[in-house]
This record gives sequence, C-alpha cells and structure tokens, in this order.
Amino acid sequence: MDVVNGMPWLSAQTRLLVVAPHPDDETIATGLLIQQVLAAGGEVRVLLLTAGDNNPWPQRWIERRLRIGHEDRQRWGRRRMGELGQAMRRLGVPSEALQAMHWPDMGLTDLLLRPGNDTIAAMAAAINRWTPNLIAMPALGDRHPDHGAAHVLVRLALAQLDRKISAMAYLVHGRPGGGGHAQITPSPGQLTVKLQALTAHRSQMTLSAKRMRRMAERPERYELVSTRATNLDGALPWRPPLALRPWLRLVVVDSSDARSWRWNDAPIRRDGAGAFYFAGAVETDAVPRFAKLVWDLPAWWVVDHWGWCVL
Ligand SMILES: [Zn+2]
Repeated sequence: MDVVNGMPWLSAQTRLLVVAPHPDDETIATGLLIQQVLAAGGEVRVLLLTAGDNNPWPQRWIERRLRIGHEDRQRWGRRRMGELGQAMRRLGVPSEALQAMHWPDMGLTDLLLRPGNDTIAAMAAAINRWTPNLIAMPALGDRHPDHGAAHVLVRLALAQLDRKISAMAYLVHGRPGGGGHAQITPSPGQLTVKLQALTAHRSQMTLSAKRMRRMAERPERYELVSTRATNLDGALPWRPPLALRPWLRLVVVDSSDARSWRWNDAPIRRDGAGAFYFAGAVETDAVPRFAKLVWDLPAWWVVDHWGWCVL
C-alpha cells in the first residue's frame, strides 16, 4: 500500500480492519479514519475482541445494583454490543461488518500468555476471514492491558499470515511516544459524525461523557507499524525498584510460545549503567518477540506499569 505523508493512501481498494478491544474504541480511535476509507470508496470491518462486559462502575450506577454477577455482566456486554452496532451505523458501517471474538474483558493478557498460544491462531484466522489490506490496531505502549495485549496478538498473528497487510497503531490510554505519527485531517462534518457516533455509547457516556468527548476530539494519530525487529540487543525498558522485584514476573511471548520467569530468576543481565537486558536462550528465530513485566499480586489499578516492549 502506498504511503503518503506517513498515512497509507486510501482508495476504493482499501479494505480496513479495525481491531477494537472494547466497544467505543472503534469510534474514539478510528471514527475519522473509518469515514475517510468509506469516502474513498473502500470497505471497513470491525473486529471486536471483548464485549466490554467487565465494566462494573458504570453498570452499578446505571442499573442501581451493587453486586454484579455473571448474568449481569453478560447483560451489560449485550447492551454494549448494541451500542457498538448503533455507533458503527452512524459512522456508515453496517452492523454485518462486525466480527466479535467474545474474549474476556480485562483478560486478553492472560489469554495471550496461555500455553500453546491458540489465541494467536484464532486471531490469524479472524484476520484472514475477510482479507483486509490495512489494519488499525491498538498501540503497543497503550496503558490499558487489553490494548497492549491486542497489539501483541495482532502482530504475532500477522507474522503467521503470508499476505502483506499494512498496519497502523492508535493510542487511546497514555501519552504518545516520540515516534513518527501521521494525523488525520477531517473534512467538514466528519468530526460531527464521529461525536454523534460516540453518543451511541450511552453506557459509557453516563458517567464519563466529558472524558469520552475529550478523547474523541483529540486529533486521530497513527503510527505505521514496522514488522522489522528493532531491539536486537534485548534491552528492557524497565528498572523496577528492588523491593518490588520479588513480586514481578518477566514474560516473553512469540508466535510459538509464551515463557515466564520470576524477575529474580529471569535470564537478565545488567550493564554498568544499570540498564537491564534479556539474556535468555532464544530457541526459535520467531520474530517478532515481545516482553512484559507482570505483577503477581492482585492489583487495584487497571493501567500497565511495566507494559509490553519489542524484544
Ligand atoms: Zn478499550
């Protein structure tokens, strides 16, 4: 696909697959891109990974109930799927263009790290079902664990497919890194349509309308994803405090396997300046490979402190 000003050139041949971990990501992150692909005569599909059913505070508030059981969660997920269908129609995408994986909300990291990696094969099959030539996916550095895990899943799935698919990454949670970004310039009316689509996500707007609108009004920025290995020396981006290390595990995942070590037992070396490097035996030449630190104790926070990096 031709790239102009850092953005793939959109045309009637463009087949865009939006990978959305939760209902609302499609609108917040790609509401303008979707409209521009359709305006160019291309086609759009949304691959939804979870129904966003693990979302207890808005549900408690709207449904006026404290305890949320399995049935309640499922009902909430169906509600959010309905909202997503409505948002997609407002953006011009028919609801038949939705493909849902029904994976657990807040559970994508666990799914990715499950032995055997059948999740990657499922992702590859889902991508292949529609043969897109452009994928929009969450950024690796997104601080929401489902978003970072979704990036890793898509990258590992793409590595299994033998077709060339251009990929670009969007950031919803966290600060953008220093890398090159392309920005969508909306034509008149496109931002209005995007904000109208956002209001379809009523379950999310009830408690957080301001925050949601602020996120949707941000410029839509994308980073083109390079499939080349970039971290050949195995540098790790974290320097976890000594006192926390007994509770941390290093996980490394590639398309053939997921491995994990307690930080203190992990194959890591340290240079004179205090930076850490992965020094483990690499059994396969599977590229790409990703690493992350996982906190072994239950944590009350949602965001990733030691998120994914390319290894
Ligand atoms: Zn999300």
